[in-house]
Amino acid sequence: MSELRDANRLADGPVIEAQDLRVWYATDRGPVRAVDGVTFSLRRGEILGLVGESGCGKSTLGRGLIGLLPDGAARDGQLRFEGRDLLSLSAREQRDLRGPDLAMIFQEPLTRLNPLMRISEHFEETLHIHEPGLSKAEIQSRALAVLRLMGIPPTRYRAYPHEFSGGMRQRLMIALALVLRPAFVVADEPTTALDVLVEAQIIRILHDLRKEFDTSLLLITHNLGIVAEACDRVAVMYAGEIVEIGDAKQVFSHPQHPYTRELLRSTISLSTTGLHFIDGAPPDLVEPPSGCRFHPRCPDAMTVCAVRPPVDRDRGDGHRAACWATDLAEGLELDEKERAPLRREEISVADEA
Ligand code: SF4
Repeated sequence: MSELRDANRLADGPVIEAQDLRVWYATDRGPVRAVDGVTFSLRRGEILGLVGESGCGKSTLGRGLIGLLPDGAARDGQLRFEGRDLLSLSAREQRDLRGPDLAMIFQEPLTRLNPLMRISEHFEETLHIHEPGLSKAEIQSRALAVLRLMGIPPTRYRAYPHEFSGGMRQRLMIALALVLRPAFVVADEPTTALDVLVEAQIIRILHDLRKEFDTSLLLITHNLGIVAEACDRVAVMYAGEIVEIGDAKQVFSHPQHPYTRELLRSTISLSTTGLHFIDGAPPDLVEPPSGCRFHPRCPDAMTVCAVRPPVDRDRGDGHRAACWATDLAEGLELDEKERAPLRREEISVADEA
């Protein structure tokens, strides 16, 4: 690791800082605003869980943060990594940051590992690209150290990917990402294809990352139990926006946004007595609903919600949420018409507008 990287990492301040970040894809129907004005930051060694239904923009945000977007996607707003403006870097400079500074763990390890290459060759290739001065012995020592942390014995170093179980392959992917000691890692549904026991192992490993590497982690998942177990803070995403963010325990015990509340009610646990689901589906991001994007599905929607976007406000201790009903409960004055419950026919008219 260079002295410059060491100095940067000793400095205080957020590792990742996004301010009004937008990511969109060009389509024939117009831009799909997959991430639309997201603001948050992540401290060193912190784990932030990112939750929400499929299609709400979680993966696009994760990829947008490390610049791994497909052709035709664009970003604007502000995005800083250890104080550096990521959006002003050239494609080459961004590529150089990926691996040693910014890394991603994908959910499909088998499609990411080359079946014709031994595990040792995967490590050699990765380290040769980013740290070309390392000898073969140094590469092996670095690789074996990180494999040991993942519970993979040195005797498997020369095995091929197909000789590992699904859980072990996922741990290999994590080891390959961590061997470069990145400061910031995005893990996109890293346990989706695994059984619950292996899932628990992976979560414990991710949780321990901060002790070993001081890594900051964005953990994208649809599993709220994992967030409660492994994350310091949680961000709830809906229709391209972060609608609530705060300390994970605080958000789960006192959700301030109806969408978070509905997501929590939809989670199955041992105490579940009946299945709950949120009516409707996430909106089309080419033409999202006016006002609050959740208003067509929100049980608390008021007239104001269909016309004015709610303001993202701090509800105490950095717990933020954007919701008119929460504002009203906290004493914000709305006139009688604005706070009248939104009727279904008004919802369809607002949607067609
Ligand atoms: Fe529901 Fe209105 Fe709050 Fe949106 S702003 S979540 S529609 S109450």
